[in-house]
Amino acid sequence: MEIKVAKFGGSSVAGAEQFKKVREIVLGDPARRVVVSSAAGKRFAEDHKLTDLLYLCHAHLTYGVSCADILHTIEQRFIEIRDSLGLAYEVERDLAALRGRLSRDMSVDELVSRGEYFTSRLLAEYLGYAFVDAADDVFFGPDGQVDKERTYAAVAAALEAHGRILIPGFYGRLPNGRIKVMSRGGSDITGALAAAAVDAAIYENWTDVSGILMADPRIVKNPSPIPSITFAELRELAFMGASVLHEDSIQPVKEKGIPLNIRNTNRPQDPGTLILERIEEEQRSERFITGIAGRKNFTILTVSKRNMHQSATLRSALEILDRYHVPVEHITLGLDSFSLVAASAALGDGLYDVIADIRKTCRPDDLQTEDGIALVASVGRHMPSRPGVSGRLFAALGAAGVNIRTIAQGADELSITVGVANEQFETAIRVLYDGFTG
Ligand code: ASP
Repeated sequence: MEIKVAKFGGSSVAGAEQFKKVREIVLGDPARRVVVSSAAGKRFAEDHKLTDLLYLCHAHLTYGVSCADILHTIEQRFIEIRDSLGLAYEVERDLAALRGRLSRDMSVDELVSRGEYFTSRLLAEYLGYAFVDAADDVFFGPDGQVDKERTYAAVAAALEAHGRILIPGFYGRLPNGRIKVMSRGGSDITGALAAAAVDAAIYENWTDVSGILMADPRIVKNPSPIPSITFAELRELAFMGASVLHEDSIQPVKEKGIPLNIRNTNRPQDPGTLILERIEEEQRSERFITGIAGRKNFTILTVSKRNMHQSATLRSALEILDRYHVPVEHITLGLDSFSLVAASAALGDGLYDVIADIRKTCRPDDLQTEDGIALVASVGRHMPSRPGVSGRLFAALGAAGVNIRTIAQGADELSITVGVANEQFETAIRVLYDGFTG
């Protein structure tokens, strides 16, 4: 029988009401045999995530300040969930043990991991799933990276043994036996590892939005969710600043060709966004942009030199930027000039040294810099097959009075990126969204 892995984020397990929704979802499909849970997150805007409270607790301890109040708040959250759902887990006992060890031998990682641990103990009981501690199932190697082979074997064995399992996200065990947490949001990684471990038919990532949005909702009003997207497109959008799943977190499912579905715990009827390696389907829809993303504050360096040996001069300029550890985002070439685009923050005050070095090494006729540039990327797997796409995009931007300072089309033709003035960033995104995503 096929297996679905369902990971629930912090807001999905923030309180008793959310637990109920999670149970509906999980028990609503017998294939959802592996569940991964975050720590309880915010129930309302001013609320706190347990993980943040635990980090705060540790900061207090570091400065010799009591964190009793914070621990009390945390305890109340768990007791409230337990009592309103009529569960039996004696969270007080485990928290008392934790208090006893706090200032003695507990690392920050272990302390912080308890958010996932306690939340998952409660959720496992509520679902009737076996609680499988990530400390016994998710292993880091000596290099601090997840030991996938060992982890996959342990998770698969746990599922085999128990039939239905719940694993806390975000942490695992180091070779020395101690607990290590992943980067923030790491439960996504645990979910992906679990999905890869059991060769899941699908990895469902349950959050509080109905999928990845086509544009930033702070810029575009009510943007539509993206129904389906390839991993490559997702990578482009993430690179250009869209807040989507981090690449590391999807690597395990991508490697195994497992589709990833982003879903909304509060609106389970919505299909969410489906992320796939390749999308065969599709009667060619009129829509050729999958999503739009962008970032502000780039600098363009334009080097001009008549009759230059272009590749040699370009190579020297790139070497100089490399020496200053400045990643180059885009390169545009002209006959007697080229432009390099880099993040202004990466250049920092080093900009002047870079300019001096380019002057000395490349001996250009002219060297111009322009900062305050925003890059806006239109990403879409349908673009390569559609003639005239760039023309239409540029025309729309032009008609809206957006001046394009630089253009770059990804070599794989998955994206077309334009550089505009920071001040025209929002307008550019809205024009592209309104004109080409409908
Ligand atoms: N609870 C952790 C965090 O807040 C990990 C997660 O939720 O994925 O970052």
